[in-house]
Amino acid sequence: MPTIAHLECSRCRAIRSAATPQTVCPQCKGSLYVRYDLKPLHGIVARDSIARDAAASPWSGMWRYRSVLPDVEPVTLGEGWTPMLQSRRRPGVYLKEEGANPTGTFKARGLAMAITMARHYGLKKLAVPSAGNAAGALAAYAAAAGIEAHIFMPRDVPFANYVEAVAYGANVTLVNGLISDCGRIVAERKEKEGWFDISSLKEPFRVEGKKTMGYELSEQLGWEYPDAVFYPTGGGVGLIGMWKAFGEMEELGWVRPGKRPRMIAVQSAGCAPMVRAFDQHASASEVWQNAATFAAGLRVPKPYGDSIMLEILRDSGGIAVSVPDAIILESLKDWARNEGIFLSPEGAAATAAYDQLIASGYLKHEDRVVIFNTGAGLKYTDITAEAMKIARPSPAA
Ligand SMILES: [Zn+2]
Repeated sequence: MPTIAHLECSRCRAIRSAATPQTVCPQCKGSLYVRYDLKPLHGIVARDSIARDAAASPWSGMWRYRSVLPDVEPVTLGEGWTPMLQSRRRPGVYLKEEGANPTGTFKARGLAMAITMARHYGLKKLAVPSAGNAAGALAAYAAAAGIEAHIFMPRDVPFANYVEAVAYGANVTLVNGLISDCGRIVAERKEKEGWFDISSLKEPFRVEGKKTMGYELSEQLGWEYPDAVFYPTGGGVGLIGMWKAFGEMEELGWVRPGKRPRMIAVQSAGCAPMVRAFDQHASASEVWQNAATFAAGLRVPKPYGDSIMLEILRDSGGIAVSVPDAIILESLKDWARNEGIFLSPEGAAATAAYDQLIASGYLKHEDRVVIFNTGAGLKYTDITAEAMKIARPSPAA
């Protein structure tokens, strides 16, 4: 495992020490990236030894990449190394099934890493605004680490997110509003309450956990890049993390040289700030008013990492696309009936976006693409039932 060399601001490149807990860049409020000295790994940790080392390790899942993660004992529930499923109907399509993670979503990766570091730093109270799934993951890992969790989420989150957070013993506040309103409450109260704010991109380690998705998708495709990656984008931490991973893998010589995948950010037509900013060639997004979609994880009116994401989309030759809820629901039903996979609404937005980009000619059938199903459909039974107009049968008379 490498020691952290330093933290580096994603905007102004200022350097910070990782010896104490850090939030954002004190100069420009940019997100901080963890930088390692990877030189000692060159030629020593070969990509082919990863599987062998992982088999010998007490930690499973994403910790197979511990040679490129902080040198700290993990707080783990078995996150990562999720299945890569080839579509039964579209041979070029691979579904990265993040529903197989602890707490049923991709949020487990980022929060496992962030809680690992929080325990390492001796932090006692963490707070997070969440559209739902980050709340469940934070609550679980905080419980595993014996750390207090304070969670703020919209009143109408998927019910499973509320139930799990309460069951894990977190302090849960339901807010009349969106994740942006929850974020404001955390920002206002954190100093007085002594909370460390573990919001996406406001501390350096959630990105580090999420970057393992980039390592995994490459390893699972034989250390080759796919042609495109479809990523349902709310906060977009995974998109940012994967791009960071690609850079590290190239430095280490782990991935075959070649063009990086086109990164495709997928949003709902009911909340598409990234799509609007991308289409307008803007360098940042603007707050999306009256955000509304049944894909709860995509209800992020202005992601904190918007500028970084726009740069990645353009550098990769990618695109941002939005899909109306009705089409998302059609794709969800299509994949359930024909592939045996119950997607989250966010994942179904990504599969719908794939169909859209095939129809438009942006992608060809033979292109090899990875589509992220960021969570298990089972976490959304209440809102999916409502969208499908399925009511609980009344008790027999
Ligand atoms: Zn800065």
